[in-house]
Amino acid sequence: MGRYCVICGLERPNEAFSGRGHGIGICKKCDKMPKSARQRIMDEDFLAQALEQKNISEKNVAYFNEMRLRYPDSLGERAAVMAELGSVHPRKRKRYGFLYHNRRELFDRMVRLNMIDERMTPEMEDAEEELIMGKNMRQKERSEIMESRGDGHKEDISTL
Ligand SMILES: [Zn+2]
Repeated sequence: MGRYCVICGLERPNEAFSGRGHGIGICKKCDKMPKSARQRIMDEDFLAQALEQKNISEKNVAYFNEMRLRYPDSLGERAAVMAELGSVHPRKRKRYGFLYHNRRELFDRMVRLNMIDERMTPEMEDAEEELIMGKNMRQKERSEIMESRGDGHKEDISTL
């Protein structure tokens, strides 16, 4: 059994991590990458994750504004979109319906940058949100069952 590298996301055996990389969960191979390449992968992950977050915070917006300047390509354009989203509609709920009706230019830009499906409609958005709510509910039920069994703390919750 190994562990997952935070950069490449692959599960690797323990011996594939060493020294400095061990503590922060970066495998030897990724540790050899130029720092800028590693940073880019982490920034891509951060952006994808922030798009799924319930809310884009002001701190997130500040970071996306830095990213926007750091990457003179599609990643920078997507970071600019995220910064704008964080100011016009930080909450994820009903975001796309709002953009479609009130900020069509931003909506279209997100479609062009493959950040959303061009067929996204308010109905699709509602369905997606219900799906996610259902999933969260099932997870909650599951963890309640686990807790009542008394083995809810078995999972390793150590952070990176
Ligand atoms: Zn790796």
